[in-house]
Amino acid sequence: MSWRYALKSYVTSPETIDDGTVIYFDDKVSIIKDSFPKSECHLLILPRSMQLSRSHPTKVIDAKFKNEFEPYVDSAISHVFRHFQEKFRVKKSHDDEDLDLGGDILEDENKFVKKFVRVGIHSVPSMANLHIHVISKDFHSVRLKNKKHYNSFNTGFFISWDDLPMTGKKLGTDKDIETTYLKKHDLICCYCQENFSNKFSSLKKHLELEFNSYFQLK
Ligand SMILES: [Zn+2]
Ligand SMILES: [Zn+2]
Repeated sequence: MSWRYALKSYVTSPETIDDGTVIYFDDKVSIIKDSFPKSECHLLILPRSMQLSRSHPTKVIDAKFKNEFEPYVDSAISHVFRHFQEKFRVKKSHDDEDLDLGGDILEDENKFVKKFVRVGIHSVPSMANLHIHVISKDFHSVRLKNKKHYNSFNTGFFISWDDLPMTGKKLGTDKDIETTYLKKHDLICCYCQENFSNKFSSLKKHLELEFNSYFQLK
């Protein structure tokens, strides 16, 4: 079985997976931890209907789909917030400053979600089974290993839940999208917007500093 289908068993039989990756499932969805998390907290919501699971997200996510899955999106978002609250505290120096994150975001779930959680899909998904990403916006992870990983969440390659359904917008071919956003697009720090051009290892070091300037382990 190709790695493109590595998510399939979470769709067909989440009850058989007991390695801690499944955080919730019912008849409609499985919510799992991404096995290659690109941030501190990176979850996937997988619809369990085979018909939906086989569909391309930009084609199948319409108003009805969003209504049906919104509650699961909300609960995954809350999971991300609780994960952060349990594991980290915001450093004192950032408590009262009017920085990008705006004070102690771990005291205010709405603010945290608005500033620090990203929900959406990849315009060219690498995994065959339809999935929605719910990810904290730190990109502080050993699994974040290359430009493609970073840009897939930090450019127009990533389509936000709020921007779905995609009414009338033409995306271009998969190859065009990948060239524009994953290969040619500069690496821009998601905290301070500094441009790292093509220098992934510099960005990676910088992300480490950014993260540690805001958060410390409890
Ligand atoms: Zn994906
Ligand atoms: Zn920065």
